[in-house]
Amino acid sequence: MKFNHLPSTRSNEMIQEQQTDNETGTTTMEDDSYFDSYEDIEIHRLMLKDVSRTEAYQKAILGNKEQFEGKIVMDIGAGTGILSLFCAQAGAAKVYAVEASGLANVTREVVAKNGFSHVIEVVHGKAEEIDLPEGAKVDVIVSEWMGFYLLHESMLESVLLARDKHLKPDGVMLPSRATLYAAACRLGQFYSEQVDFWKDLYGLDLSPVGQAVLDSKRCKPEVAVVKADELLSAPVQVADFDLAWLGPDEIERVHSRAFTSVVCDEPTEYQGVCLWFDCAFEWPDRMASSPVKLSTSPSSAATHWKQTIIVLPSSIQVEEGDLIGWELTLNRSPEHRRRYQIELNLLDPEEDEHPVPCSCGQARCVVIAAFMAKADQEPLPDDGVDVFSTEPQ
Ligand code: SAH
Repeated sequence: MKFNHLPSTRSNEMIQEQQTDNETGTTTMEDDSYFDSYEDIEIHRLMLKDVSRTEAYQKAILGNKEQFEGKIVMDIGAGTGILSLFCAQAGAAKVYAVEASGLANVTREVVAKNGFSHVIEVVHGKAEEIDLPEGAKVDVIVSEWMGFYLLHESMLESVLLARDKHLKPDGVMLPSRATLYAAACRLGQFYSEQVDFWKDLYGLDLSPVGQAVLDSKRCKPEVAVVKADELLSAPVQVADFDLAWLGPDEIERVHSRAFTSVVCDEPTEYQGVCLWFDCAFEWPDRMASSPVKLSTSPSSAATHWKQTIIVLPSSIQVEEGDLIGWELTLNRSPEHRRRYQIELNLLDPEEDEHPVPCSCGQARCVVIAAFMAKADQEPLPDDGVDVFSTEPQ
C-alpha cells in the first residue's frame, strides 16, 4: 500500500486529499505554499492549544535554566515566538528567532510586547540559508519541526542543514532524539463511521460503498486518534534518530521489517497499522539536567498530531498470541520533497524471513536471540593480542 497524499503542513484540512500531480516533472519543496500555510494564524493556535506539545518544550527549557543561562540559542521556525520567549525567560544571552514565513513581523511585535527585544532577534529567512553576524555559532538549537508521522513536512532536513551551519561542535539539539513507532490496531471509530455505516441503511445493504472507502485508503493515510485499548501489539520501533548526528541523507528512506504477536483480551479485528512518535529532550550531561519526553502515543494525552493510520484493505480476525508481520517503508517523494510515500506490505510469519534478532516470541526467534545475547557476553577468542587492553603490560 502506498500513501503520499497528505497536505504539506498541519492544517485542519490535513486529511483531505491534495492534488499531487507534478505537471512539470520537477522536484519541489513547495516552499511558497508551505510558508504561506504557516501565515495562517489558525495553525499556530492549534499548536499552542496543544498543551502536551507546548508544555514539553516549556519544561525542557524552563526546567533546565542552568543549560540556557548566558547561552546563544537559535529557535528554528519560531512561529509566534513562544519557544524563543521560553529560552529568554530561562536566561539565554541571545536568541535568534528564525522564521521563514511572513509571520516574522508579528513575532517581532510579540517579542517587544514581552520585553525581550534586547535578547531575541527575529530573523526573517530560512534557517539553513541565513548567515549570523560574523559567522557566530550557537550553543543550542531548539525547534519544533515534527510533522505527522514525524517526517511529514520535511522540516527536519532544514533543521539538520542549519545545525551543520550554525551549531558549535559541542552544541545541543532540542529535541535531542526522535523515535517513530508502529503498532497493529483496531480502528473502531473509523470502521463504524466509514465502513459499517453502509451495511444497513433504510433497510438496504450498501456495504460495497464501505469497501470502496477501504480501497480509497490505499492511497491516503488517515490522521486520527487511536485509543490505547485499540492497540493490538507492543510498539515496534521504525526509526530512532539522534539529532546530533543524523545525516540529511538518512531521512530519504526509512524502512523497517517486523513480526510481533497480537495482544488482546478476546478475538478481535486487525484493521490497521498505527504510527506515532516520541521526542526526548536530553543533555549530554544527564546528571546536570532534567530530561523531558514528548509522546504522541495512543497511551499519552492526545496531541494535534493525533496518530497516522494505515488502513488495511480488509479486516483480519486475530486472537491473543497470533503472529503478524509487516514491512513498512517511508520514501521521500522525489517530486514533492515535503511528503513521503508510505508503503505497507503485510508479511506471512510462516513463510517470510524474520529479521535477526526478532522479538516476535516464536520459539525459533527466541533461540536465535538467546544465542546472540550469549555470544555478546562471551570473551573474544584469545589470539595473544589484546588490542582493547588499556592495562599497563
Ligand atoms: N516554534 C513555533 C512554531 C512551530 S511550527 C511553535 O512551537 O509554536 C514550524 C514553524 O517553522 C513554522 O512557522 C514555519 O513557517 C517555520 N519554518 C519551517 N521551515 C523553516 C525554515 N527552514 N527556516 C525557518 N523557519 C521555518
